[in-house]
Amino acid sequence: MRQHTSHMVGKVYGCLTVEAFTGKRVVARCACGSAREYDGRDMRRGRIISCGCKPQALTARHPKAFRAWWGAIQRCHNPNYKAYATYGLAGVRVADEWKDSFGAFFAAVGDTPTDKHSLDRFPDPFGNYEPGNVRWATAEQQARNQRRNHEIWKSGLSAKQVRRMRMRKAELKYRAKKKAEKMRL
Ligand SMILES: [Zn+2]
Repeated sequence: MRQHTSHMVGKVYGCLTVEAFTGKRVVARCACGSAREYDGRDMRRGRIISCGCKPQALTARHPKAFRAWWGAIQRCHNPNYKAYATYGLAGVRVADEWKDSFGAFFAAVGDTPTDKHSLDRFPDPFGNYEPGNVRWATAEQQARNQRRNHEIWKSGLSAKQVRRMRMRKAELKYRAKKKAEKMRL
């Protein structure tokens, strides 16, 4: 990430215009005239939008929701991110309108109800992070969702097939049993 910082010179982030690159940080001038050093990454992520003369960014007021949004984008769209293999490579995407805007994501999904909730893809556990398939879920809710994933895996079908068929739980169990029987023969 740090290597991108030098390219920030001349760019505008909210009220801040980047004037120089100092190594790890950037010097930016606020629309009100004050200039100082900032963390370039925080600016790119939308955490800092002014010298403090403007109200805090939505991202700063809702850090948990922001981290969840940012994490989903990394998993799906950043090949250097550790979980990319199980998300991005598997074809999981973040909806364009959300990828480009934390505000749009926040307007649709809202803030996380408690610290115990995290972002979950539901009802389609193999679907994208997109309107209609995202919720805040507790660990228990996610575990239930995972058990369903496991049943799909046991059925021997691809996620795409399951998605297309909108299979019911009982049907999945039946398929899993059939497959097990076949393997015993
Ligand atoms: Zn200012």
